[in-house]
Amino acid sequence: MLMCRDLAVIASDYIDGELAGRQSLSVKMHLMMCKDCRTFIGNLRASTELMKAHSSAQPDEELLRRIDERVTEALNALKSRGSDS
Ligand SMILES: [Zn+2]
Repeated sequence: MLMCRDLAVIASDYIDGELAGRQSLSVKMHLMMCKDCRTFIGNLRASTELMKAHSSAQPDEELLRRIDERVTEALNALKSRGSDS
């Protein structure tokens, strides 16, 4: 069974649709059961879309830094949760 910290590692590949069918299915099953990871994936997806929307324009350093901070924060929260369960 996929753990929260496993999901955090492959989350960006999942969002980009780069996971193999079986792996993608495990992520979906985990997301059905785990509200925290749904929130995490939702935030990550929103951040990814923001970055894509901005990629054609001049990169906004401040925005990228804020996105990076939020993703790192969410990732750390997931990792610490995953290790004590
Ligand atoms: Zn989870």
